[in-house]
Amino acid sequence: MPTFAPNTDRIANTSWGSSRQGASVVGLWIHHQADGAGADANDYMVGPNDRDSHPTYAIDDNEAATVVGIVHPDKAPSSTFYANDQNAVALEAANTTGEPNWEVPVATLEQIALIAAHHSIESPRSAHPIEVNKPGVAQKGFWVGWHAQVRSTACPGPFLIAHIPAIVARANQIKDAIQGGASWASIRPGVQGGEFLGALTDAEQRRVAHLWGA
Ligand SMILES: [Zn+2]
Repeated sequence: MPTFAPNTDRIANTSWGSSRQGASVVGLWIHHQADGAGADANDYMVGPNDRDSHPTYAIDDNEAATVVGIVHPDKAPSSTFYANDQNAVALEAANTTGEPNWEVPVATLEQIALIAAHHSIESPRSAHPIEVNKPGVAQKGFWVGWHAQVRSTACPGPFLIAHIPAIVARANQIKDAIQGGASWASIRPGVQGGEFLGALTDAEQRRVAHLWGA
């Protein structure tokens, strides 16, 4: 049975979510909250709302990128009218800037990598590396996808979309460490943004630096 990732800071434990109809969790959908710079919609998604947004996780836009568990991973979440989440968990990340880049704290990237690593290890695909989602392609690994892959939307915005390869690379580092016997407590301090970058290979760091205009 799927469980909340160990980096979940607070569980709202709402009654939202629907049956997975026996499906396993084999992927993660990334959304952004698009609530403007420096605000978050975590409370909004815990309660009834007009976007029908009840993701598995909401990530705050504070420096630590606090992770709030909203829908138990054992249930299918829904995010901004996209309901095809029977075989996936979903998260909505709060933004620190608005259009056009919709940035998130660097710590959010690390939190997403931890969430992906946790659910990939729990999944029936744990023997395979985590992959970037490729719609229409049969994949062996747990996948990380984003809203704009399946709907005509800017979600989750250029900043997060550009960082998905780095998130997947970092998630595989965490997955390999845990499957190699490391404890989650030893990974957890990596939540700071500098740890996210420091954990990447030189080539991955160069790619991220390029994305950031450095
Ligand atoms: Zn979305």
